[in-house]
Amino acid sequence: MKLNNLVLQNFRNYEALSLDFEPGVNLIVGRNAQGKTNLLEAIGYLGSGKSFRAQKTGELVRFGSDFADLYGSVTSQGRQQSLRWVLFADGRKRMLERNGAKKRTAGEIAGVLPSVLFCPEDLMILKGGSAPRRRLGDLALSQLRPNYDAALTEYTRILEQKSRILKDWRENPALLEILPEYNTRLCQVGALLISYRARFYEALGQAAAGYHGEFSGGAEEFRLEYKTVSTVTDPYAPVSVLTGQLQDHLESHYRAELDSASCLTGPHKDDFDISLSQISLKLYGSQGQTRTATISLKLAQRELMRRELEEEPLLLLDDVLSELDPGRQDFVLNQIKTGQVFITACEPGRFTKLGKTIEIEKGNVK
Ligand code: ATP
Ligand code: MG
Repeated sequence: MKLNNLVLQNFRNYEALSLDFEPGVNLIVGRNAQGKTNLLEAIGYLGSGKSFRAQKTGELVRFGSDFADLYGSVTSQGRQQSLRWVLFADGRKRMLERNGAKKRTAGEIAGVLPSVLFCPEDLMILKGGSAPRRRLGDLALSQLRPNYDAALTEYTRILEQKSRILKDWRENPALLEILPEYNTRLCQVGALLISYRARFYEALGQAAAGYHGEFSGGAEEFRLEYKTVSTVTDPYAPVSVLTGQLQDHLESHYRAELDSASCLTGPHKDDFDISLSQISLKLYGSQGQTRTATISLKLAQRELMRRELEEEPLLLLDDVLSELDPGRQDFVLNQIKTGQVFITACEPGRFTKLGKTIEIEKGNVK
C-alpha cells in the first residue's frame, strides 16, 4: 500500500498542509520541534485511528482549534482509496470516512493503510516495564485483526468500570453486588485476547528469530515467550477453558483486589520475554544485543503484516537511523528496499540519496 497524498488541517502544529509522497523512500528533515514526528503520527493515525504517543484524541487538535481534519489518498488492495478522520478537541466522537462513506470504527478500515513505527524509545522497549511491550503487540495485532481491536476496546472499557467499583466500594458497598458480573465479562473477553496474542507472539517470535539470526550470523538462539496470567496452562486452549482459568485466578485475588482497590490480575498485565541462547535479554542483554533484537522485532512485525495482507505496510522510522551505528543502519536500510518508507531526521546526512527529501519548518513544507 502507498500513501500518495496527505492533507492536514489543524493537526498538531500543522494549520494547513498538503503533501505528495513518493512510492519509495520519503525523507522528512527539519530542525527540532518543527513537526517531523507530528507528520509520522498523522500518517500512522490515518490508517489505524491510533496515536503512538497521544493519551487523548484532543491532544492531536491544534492548540486553539475546535477540530482536526486528516485526509489521505491511498493506493491499497489494488485500487485508489481515501481515508478521512475528523477529530474534536472537546471529546466529541471522532468521525471516519472511507472512500467518502461514513464508518463507525477503526476496524472497518483495517488493512487499508497499516503501518509499522520504529522510534528511539523502541530501543528501550525490551529493557523497561511491560506497558510499552503490550502497546507494541496491541497496535500490531489491532491492525491485523479487527476483531481483536474490538475485543481490546471492550476489555479496556470493562476494566475501567471495574476499577471504579474497586475505588468506590468502601463508600458504597452495594457496588460489590455487581462486581461478579464485571469479573465474568472481563474473563470472557480477556480469554479472547489471550487466544489472539498467543498466536501472534508465536509468529512474531519466529519471524524475529530469522532476522536476528541473519544479523548476528546465527551465533545466538533468539526466543520470544508470551507471558500471561499464571493459571493459564496453555494459551492455545479453547476460549472457554481460558475463561475458566482466568476466573480461578481472579477469585483467588478477590480479597487482594478489594484491599488494594485496583485490578491486580488479567491480560492487561500480559508481557513477553526475549532470550538469547536461553539468557534473558531484559536482565542480561548488552546494549548492542538489545538493539539488534529490537530491530528484528520491528522487521518481524512488518513481515507478519506483509504476509497477512499480501501488501507491504508503511514503515515509519522516526529519528531512529541516526541512533544506530553504521552496521545496524545498513541492516535496516537493506530491508527497506521495498514498500513505502518515511524517515525523519534532523541531519539528512547520507540518507538523502535514498529518495525524496521533504523539508519541514514550523508546520510547513519549506
Ligand atoms: P524533534 O526533532 O525534536 O523530534 P519534531 O520535528 O519531531 O522535533 P514534533 O514532535 O513533530 O517535532 O513537534 C513539533 C511541535 O509541535 C512541538 O513544538 C509541539 O509543541 C507542537 N505541538 C504538539 N502538539 C500540538 C498541538 N496540539 N497544537 C499545536 N502544536 C503542537
Ligand atoms: Mg521528533
